[in-house]
Amino acid sequence: MLTGFKNAVEVDFSLEENQKKIMDAFRQIESEKGTVYPLVIGGERITTNQTITSYNPANKEVLGSVCACTAELADQAIHTANKAFAAWSHTTVDERVRTLRKLATLLIENRFYIDAWNVLESGKNWGEADGELCEQLDFINSYVMHIQNLDKGLELVPTDEHTKCIYIPIGVGVALPPWNFPVSLSAGMVVSAVVTGNTICVKPSSDTPIVAYKLQELCEKAGIPAGVVNYIPGQGSEIGDLLVEHPLTRFINFTGSKAVGCRIYEHAAKVSPGQKWLKRVVAEMGGKNAIIVDSSANIQKAAQGVVSSAFTFQGQKCSACSRAIVLDDVYDAFVEAVVEETKKLKESQGPGQENCAIGPVVNKASFDKITGYVEIAREEGNIVYGGTYSDETGYFVDPTVVRDITREARIANEEIFGPVLAVIKVNTFDEALDVANQTEYALTGSVYSETRENVIKAKKTFHVGNLYFNRKSTAAVVLQHPFGGFNLSGTDAKTGTADYLRNFMNLKSITEDLTD
Ligand code: NAP
Repeated sequence: MLTGFKNAVEVDFSLEENQKKIMDAFRQIESEKGTVYPLVIGGERITTNQTITSYNPANKEVLGSVCACTAELADQAIHTANKAFAAWSHTTVDERVRTLRKLATLLIENRFYIDAWNVLESGKNWGEADGELCEQLDFINSYVMHIQNLDKGLELVPTDEHTKCIYIPIGVGVALPPWNFPVSLSAGMVVSAVVTGNTICVKPSSDTPIVAYKLQELCEKAGIPAGVVNYIPGQGSEIGDLLVEHPLTRFINFTGSKAVGCRIYEHAAKVSPGQKWLKRVVAEMGGKNAIIVDSSANIQKAAQGVVSSAFTFQGQKCSACSRAIVLDDVYDAFVEAVVEETKKLKESQGPGQENCAIGPVVNKASFDKITGYVEIAREEGNIVYGGTYSDETGYFVDPTVVRDITREARIANEEIFGPVLAVIKVNTFDEALDVANQTEYALTGSVYSETRENVIKAKKTFHVGNLYFNRKSTAAVVLQHPFGGFNLSGTDAKTGTADYLRNFMNLKSITEDLTD
């Protein structure tokens, strides 16, 4: 049992004082809109001619823009991080911990401001944004705890020799976070690198680069030395390969789509001229997560869990449920209950800044992709709720429930990453497990069942990184539900754990002969 660690607690936005604080933050941001943010390399602010514009997906308003990193500057950033590594890798764990504790304090002080930027750029609501901030605090506190244990080294058997086995930092990392968790995942990548004595270049998602800049500022204020964390926004398709293939890049920490993750894995495997190591890749990728509902399940509870998993944050969580696999004798009742629950959720649809239960999808490309799948769903099954969308004001897709979907259907196998739920009918629990395991992904899964035999069977055979029973498939909490997927969902990094930090360290075995 772990003691000495406590998960952060979300802000209670039902309280008027907290509502006022986030509204004040939105007002403060109003005066900052339109700002052009520079790159930060070795502590130096650098502007470039090309910029990336950040939009609010709820109303298409321009929030500001960031300078786009060129190939030359990407190379400079890696060299700068490499130089900084020489000193940072020799700092004591105590010093690193102190700095990251300061970062946690600054985050709490700036909580509403960071939440507000997250809401505006990603389209999530207040509670979801603050949930992310809590996850970020949990990452800091868990990594700080783990590194102090890891710093003791590996326990060895006693011998006549003087032996030690210690964890040491490995070098320069590249962080490639996604837009859907721009605060916690980006910060988790930074903190895990910094706490282990490495240095890092952060290329934020092009959809959420401003909130990433705000985190960079807090890292600097916390006293992380120049060059240890570098901020280099840019289109992944333009500078991604260069960062991955650079001979001084020692590790790549990526979270995003399967296609990009597989590309990174392949490119990182090649040894570039001048490169003296094999690169480490942490790649956490997509999902096609299933929730099984068997004949003994509490249907009302299952419907609530499925709807929450499928439609909060518009189905744009990697852990979101996109397939409900339901036994035939409860299928109709379940579909009905899901439709009723979805109707309730849809009553509060609108901009994240108005704290609506469901908001916009992140951008035009996502809107086009998701609505394309809605049209496929219309052909492959029967839409019993939703199926409607509009990009007139912002990018809004209504939560869509599709019944009579076969296991072969495209919407039963491909990641949509939007609010589209395929409901698949099966005859037996074994068939349900078989359908659940059929996709190339294996990230999260859940089973609603009151039959012990089925629960035991699913524990053994439902092959996913995060498996839940009688609860939703989303909302993993640090050190309660260590997160990471199997198969083409990723390298199973299990963020928040000591295992995760080991990805960014070498274990050095040191032996001294004591005889004359
Ligand atoms: P994405 O398009 O793969 O992008 C992720 C990051 O990679 C972004 O910073 C992106 O930059 C960058 N990138 C793009 N092309 C690159 C290249 N060739 N080389 C290096 N980097 C490159 O994914 P996304 O749309 O941001 O995020 C959604 C996906 O993330 C979904 O598939 C979701 O399931 C997955 N996800 C997984 C987890 C998990 O823990 N398993 C968590 C969250 C999200 P640009 O923005 O500039 O393109």
